[in-house]
Amino acid sequence: MSLSRPLRSSLQRLHYPLRFAELKRLLKNQQLTPATLQQQQQRDLTTLIQYAVSHSPYYGNRFSNLEWDHQLNRLPILQKQDLITQRDQLLDHTADPATIKEGHTGGSTGTPLTYYYDQHKLELMRAGQYRSFMQCGWKPGESVLQFWGATQDLSPKQTLSAQWQRLISAEQTLAAFEFNEARLQQWCREIQRLRPVVIRGYPSILAELARYILEQQIPLPHTIRGCFCTAEVLYPWQRKKIEAAFQCKLYNQYGSREVPNISCECSHGNQHVFTDLVALESIEVDREHQLLVTSLTNRLMPFIRYQIGDHGQLLDEPCSCGSPFPLMEMEVCRSNDLLQSPNGQRIYPAWFIHLLDGVEGVEQYQFLQPQLEQITLTIVAQQPLPEGLQHQIEQQLRQKMGKSMRFTIKQVAAIPRGASGKHRFVRCDIN
Ligand SMILES: [Zn+2]
Repeated sequence: MSLSRPLRSSLQRLHYPLRFAELKRLLKNQQLTPATLQQQQQRDLTTLIQYAVSHSPYYGNRFSNLEWDHQLNRLPILQKQDLITQRDQLLDHTADPATIKEGHTGGSTGTPLTYYYDQHKLELMRAGQYRSFMQCGWKPGESVLQFWGATQDLSPKQTLSAQWQRLISAEQTLAAFEFNEARLQQWCREIQRLRPVVIRGYPSILAELARYILEQQIPLPHTIRGCFCTAEVLYPWQRKKIEAAFQCKLYNQYGSREVPNISCECSHGNQHVFTDLVALESIEVDREHQLLVTSLTNRLMPFIRYQIGDHGQLLDEPCSCGSPFPLMEMEVCRSNDLLQSPNGQRIYPAWFIHLLDGVEGVEQYQFLQPQLEQITLTIVAQQPLPEGLQHQIEQQLRQKMGKSMRFTIKQVAAIPRGASGKHRFVRCDIN
């Protein structure tokens, strides 16, 4: 049974009043001036910090001798390690345990984390996603097709409430752990059947799907107005493929499970920071621009100056799209994707990606550093690799990282993805 868009939208509004109230508020914020938004952000920050100090034992302790003088950069940084060792201390001690849920993130990539959340955080996260989707012309109640990997999002519950939610939902999720050509074909049929307005997924998966669509010249429904990608680094070649295949703009979203909706790309191709939801800082550590994020809305488990593990910079320039939200620039990097040379230098993934420039027929690849002096390149390619490629890359690696580097290429049929379905082009496995 399928409902019309207006009916579905009305039923959703009834079923998720909090989500739609938040959406209304978020959309209103888009109409504010940059100066008003900044004042509002300062107020939100003050409220949050005062709340955290008086309700979370961790912050009560950590901030006990600090005077809040509206300068976020004077407060201590929250590390991922703190999240692991101080998880329960971070929690609002007045929260009703019955309302607290556990979320997990980063199982196979980086540091596995458990965090707490409640229904409000979930509804606000969805409202934030809706606001981003609306940039491409999508309206609540219109169909969204997601290619997702995390098992926690995929287990269908059979309760009456869950069945009702599925009926009024316009969202479908296809499990994207592993795929082959047959699965890609199946996904294309699903796109044709579901006629989504928004398609969302990891860039590596959307790029694979886009390659297949272009190669097989598969006709897609004209309903698609925007693609959204998140959770992985997006490379320019992936964007080109995805936009060509789906014939629409690709919007890059940035956020994590523990702190969602940090920024999203606008129709003019710039990345705007949602300063009504977060306070974002970029600090220089070892010549890298580390991002620190403060969630302005999470009181249950406050994240204040959280070192999220991504790199980027805040930009002080306007965007002609008219959004009052300031701009940022992501750097093509996640901390655990930096490889290390024996002399202590850390090398950005983008450097490795160019080693394969001009090599034909490459479908998938991964540079892996299992030990300090060893790098392995695993490649899935439609044709044999050019003779001398191993030697050529090894020379470049030694020049960049030192003469002791050893390098091997393995051509394989498939590269297994992490449990979440994410693919990483460059991975450092040294402890
Ligand atoms: Zn813009």
